[in-house]
Amino acid sequence: MKALVFHRPKHVSVDNVDDPRIEHPRDVILKVTATAICGSDLHIYNGLFPQPRSMTLGHEFMGIVEEVGADITTLKRGDRVVVPFPIACGQCFFCAHHLPPHCQNSNPKHYGPEGGLLTEKGGALFGYTDLYGGYDGGQAEYVRVPYADVGPRKVPDGLSDEQVLFLTDILPTGWTAVDQAQLKGGETVAVFGCGPVGLMAMKSAWIKGAGRVIGVDIEEYRVETARRASKAEGINGAKDDPVEAIRAMTEGRGADVCIDAVGMEARRSIWKKLANVIHGQVGSIEVLETCFSAVRRGGMVSVVGVYGMPYDNFPIGQFFDKGLRMWAGQALAQNYVDELMELIRTGKLRTDDIITHRLPLAEAPHGYEIFNKKEDDCVKVVLKP
Ligand code: NAD
Ligand code: ZN
Repeated sequence: MKALVFHRPKHVSVDNVDDPRIEHPRDVILKVTATAICGSDLHIYNGLFPQPRSMTLGHEFMGIVEEVGADITTLKRGDRVVVPFPIACGQCFFCAHHLPPHCQNSNPKHYGPEGGLLTEKGGALFGYTDLYGGYDGGQAEYVRVPYADVGPRKVPDGLSDEQVLFLTDILPTGWTAVDQAQLKGGETVAVFGCGPVGLMAMKSAWIKGAGRVIGVDIEEYRVETARRASKAEGINGAKDDPVEAIRAMTEGRGADVCIDAVGMEARRSIWKKLANVIHGQVGSIEVLETCFSAVRRGGMVSVVGVYGMPYDNFPIGQFFDKGLRMWAGQALAQNYVDELMELIRTGKLRTDDIITHRLPLAEAPHGYEIFNKKEDDCVKVVLKP
């Protein structure tokens, strides 16, 4: 079959690889009908998550069940499903505590070095490096789905692939960020990053009762997308200081909630880059620092942008002084996918309005290039194998 294979940073190609096969009675094989490129894929593409061997990428995919393992009774050949991106067994301590990205059985290989990239045994993700389990991803014609009685959700009739594809990741990710903030109603929510994840967080904030939603980015076309698709007030951080702007909009206090939907690949000044090199750090916590400054005292900072390694300049003094709350992590995707499917089915939530590029799988390398460089007004690329 054909698959998008990562070889080394900035080198991905569509190759012929072996077809996946059932390896465990709880597996299914899915014929992929739609799959998307994620900002998280860019961390591998740009070498911020090391991946020493070639591997098929992709954790945002859906399709038709082709073959089921002997223990699968919940799905049959021909069912159309979306698959949340964390691979979770449904039975371990962490799954029982509704923390699917921390499943203890899905990633048996990984015990990270102390002080290294990841410090304890964590869960697994589709197509996301050997550290996250080494599973092949779904930017391919077929994909093996482990624990298929836990993750996949059947798609109700009448909904198109594009309407439900983002249930795999970016929608539950944006939703998780807002849910962790526990809005009571009327809050000002500032979202840093008007990429796909930030746009979903803004849409989620409205549904969960925000009174005001602000989107911050450094690319004007993405700020414009936040205004159009997520009905946010926009701030271009390349032109205006977002902290000053947000304070000016909130009687000097700052936003009740700041969401970091950028992560370690924040584009930054040469001085910040140099400071990182001196500290031996890849990536930047620049946006996290900005969130700490733009949030009001007693407010909440919710982080879904990915930080892949320990950082030694975490603003603990500001965190303490302002009495903040904070949450960070992988999306608790399985917890929300049914509720979100229902919001889409009943027309209360729309997510396909951020798709800018639809490409055949063969053109996936071009998709990576424009999505990475923010060229051609690219916001979200959907691949059709
Ligand atoms: P993206 O690359 O499309 O979006 C990032 C946006 O941040 C871009 O629009 C970019 O212009 C903007 N940006 C860069 N530097 C900035 C700065 N200094 N100030 C303001 N904006 C800045 O990626 P995406 O798909 O939207 O993903 C965003 C982040 O969310 C990534 O780190 C990704 O890995 C992460 N993510 C996390 C989860 C999770 O479960 N926690 C799931 C999916 C994605
Ligand atoms: Zn993703």
